[in-house]
Amino acid sequence: MTRIFASINLAEVHHAKNLLDTIGIRTFVKNEALASAVGQLPFGDCQPELWLVDDTDEERARRLLKEGILAPAEKGKLWQCGCGEIQEAQFTQCWLCGDYRN
Ligand SMILES: [Zn+2]
Repeated sequence: MTRIFASINLAEVHHAKNLLDTIGIRTFVKNEALASAVGQLPFGDCQPELWLVDDTDEERARRLLKEGILAPAEKGKLWQCGCGEIQEAQFTQCWLCGDYRN
């Protein structure tokens, strides 16, 4: 099994999962429950991860994620904080450094 995607943002992981679901690539999410422990555990230990059930889907999945998540339409919904962290549009404050969107 191959880890195809990971994000501290559980919604983003589910978004990636939905994208892959639509073209029939089977995946599962790891560390979903641990996502709520962010801030108490070291980063890598609690980051939700998306895994492929079938390794042969990897190339197709990576291509789709690259296009899907970073597509211009989606990009418009994101903003980047001064600290470099990418935020989704619904957040007006950086979860990492506490800075406000400007
Ligand atoms: Zn920040």
